[in-house]
Amino acid sequence: MKNIYRNSFYNLNKAKRILEKNQILALPTETVYGLAGNAYSHKSVKRIYSLKKRPQKNPLIIHYYNLELLKKDAEYDKNFLRLYKKFSPGPLTYILKKKKKSKVSKFANAKLKTIAVRFPKNKIIRSLLKKLAFPLAIPSANISTGVSPTDPLDVVDEFKNKIKFILNGGKSLIGLESTVINLSSKPAILRPGSISRTQIEKVLGKKVSNVTKSKFVISPGMHKRHYSPGIPIKLNSIKPDYKAAFIVFGKKYKMKKNMFNLSKKSNLKEAAKNLYKVLRKIKKLKYKKINVVKIPNKNIGIAINDRLKKASN
Ligand code: AMP
Ligand code: MG
Repeated sequence: MKNIYRNSFYNLNKAKRILEKNQILALPTETVYGLAGNAYSHKSVKRIYSLKKRPQKNPLIIHYYNLELLKKDAEYDKNFLRLYKKFSPGPLTYILKKKKKSKVSKFANAKLKTIAVRFPKNKIIRSLLKKLAFPLAIPSANISTGVSPTDPLDVVDEFKNKIKFILNGGKSLIGLESTVINLSSKPAILRPGSISRTQIEKVLGKKVSNVTKSKFVISPGMHKRHYSPGIPIKLNSIKPDYKAAFIVFGKKYKMKKNMFNLSKKSNLKEAAKNLYKVLRKIKKLKYKKINVVKIPNKNIGIAINDRLKKASN
């Protein structure tokens, strides 16, 4: 595929030049594939919103190599430093107070007083960030409200020829978006992910609230419909319906053509990694309905259920 570039010294430098020209490219992170642009450039950020058809009021996550550049853009406290030490680089996004002097485009954080920041762990994106003098604004590389891409071909499916440069990092390691924690006021989880609330509470030494179920939209990304394949989804389903795609988990199922197993080994990490792949496959096969069995609501299963719930809206 001509838009997909392998990870090499030459291609990373090419990516650097594209970003320095304030153009957009796609790249791997350990969570899902993202559309990246210079976070300090209004032009880049606006282009990301228009490519994704993302509502302007849904802010982007700004990705940094380490604390150095962040210091100019955000304020942080002890809680942040504790979590940073333990989980960054990695799939944890922090909502912090934005500094007045920050160069991050106001469009990237939807003109809010806060800013979402992450330090991704994937080797390719880290080598690229290290070469750049600015952080990257990166949402998932899909049209807004849809299913996130977990390999380079998914990005091609989403944007066809509109994205001319995709760095190839193979299949996403985690396959679900990062955990989002608000640290701009009392710590609260805004989006569950592979780093769990329990793990976070252990590091902070205190309870952290979970506002993902709150009716009040604190995080614009908590909009009801999201991560959706555009097909009705029924959760906690027990028996298969021969016309619908049936998503299962565990080894007790006798597999039929319309059945898709997230993990035969009942491994939740594997299920998370396969979820979006399976949803995309089902969509391609033109099923009109999806039934999903109950997925254990623990560890990353909490994040899987969060995405399925939003996808079913
Ligand atoms: P994504 O759509 O995967 O790029 O995820 C970004 C998530 O972080 C969305 O749920 C956003 O609404 C949320 N987010 C980004 N910036 C902020 C912010 N300043 N305050 C609250 N939530 C934010
Ligand atoms: Mg997204």
